[in-house]
Amino acid sequence: MIDRYGRPLEDLRVTLTHVCNFSCFFCHMEGEGTQSVVGLSPEQIGLVAKVSVEFGVKTVKLTGGEPTLRRDLPEIIRTIKLSGVREVSLTTNGFLLSNIAGKLKEAGLDRINVSLHALSKERFKDVTGVDGLDRVIEGIKEAKRQGLRPIKLNYVLTKRNDSEIENIIRFSETNEIDELHLIELHPVGLGKSSFSYHMSMEKIEKDIANIAIKSEIRNKHFRPRYTLPSGLVIEIVKPYANPIFCAGCNRIRLTVDGRLKTCLYRDDREIDILYALSSSSLSYEEKLELIRHAFEIAISIREPNFKYLTKVETLQT
Ligand code: SAM
Ligand code: SF4
Repeated sequence: MIDRYGRPLEDLRVTLTHVCNFSCFFCHMEGEGTQSVVGLSPEQIGLVAKVSVEFGVKTVKLTGGEPTLRRDLPEIIRTIKLSGVREVSLTTNGFLLSNIAGKLKEAGLDRINVSLHALSKERFKDVTGVDGLDRVIEGIKEAKRQGLRPIKLNYVLTKRNDSEIENIIRFSETNEIDELHLIELHPVGLGKSSFSYHMSMEKIEKDIANIAIKSEIRNKHFRPRYTLPSGLVIEIVKPYANPIFCAGCNRIRLTVDGRLKTCLYRDDREIDILYALSSSSLSYEEKLELIRHAFEIAISIREPNFKYLTKVETLQT
């Protein structure tokens, strides 16, 4: 389904928890704050996924906090798969991955993004607050062994870890990572107070473009993608520097406390569906009907974050 700005709805991003075993200094927590709530059940998430498919959603991404801290993660994945989406993927810090990658694959998880912001132990701890680099690397290897492909790495560029970029590219190449996402620091959540660490992607992107054997622009967020001679694909995620980023947004979000959130950067464009998901006096069909109605409203109020540049300018002054 297309919104008022001609943008299709194709991707549902679900926050499973606000709890995390890391404390990255820039964490945006998906723009949701860090209030401690239990989180939706697999059945409740399944209901939303089912309706989202009716509105054109093809892919579901699970996120958090740290989604692998949910003990019922395999059940959540199985329930979403039953809704008919084409792909279920997960973004994780990778710390628990080596223990559970097999179970997640078995439950139907299609692929995975692992966040890796540094390859030196000291820098990794400085960014994440945890001495966990070896476990994350083991998790990445196990995910590959279990066939969670394509496997993608997420690296957030900041002035605190920019010295790591060459090592991350080399690691991705030698470990046959399919894609490396270089992400610009977003001024959301802790990313707002740590925005003084923001770094432009311009130079790095130019260097990558110079050696790339193929360049393309992805429909999603109009993200530039470069293929290196090794075959590694590097995707640049730069909402700040790319003025048409929002015009390519195909996403809707389900928050940990049951709201449909239409934009990472805004909390004024949300529809609360917790009643529809929780009420014991509603039948299954009545719940679906209420959620359908909420999707219609959410799609009608979705809009590109036009004011974004003004906000960032304000943050910098
Ligand atoms: N805990 C998981 C992880 O870190 O992969 C999933 C949740 S995390 C909020 C989702 C993604 O957002 C991660 O790749 C993380 O590195 C990225 N991220 C977090 N804060 C960010 C920020 N301020 N700017 C850009 N990306 C950020
Ligand atoms: Fe945890 Fe992910 Fe946030 Fe880091 S970015 S603190 S791993 S939720």
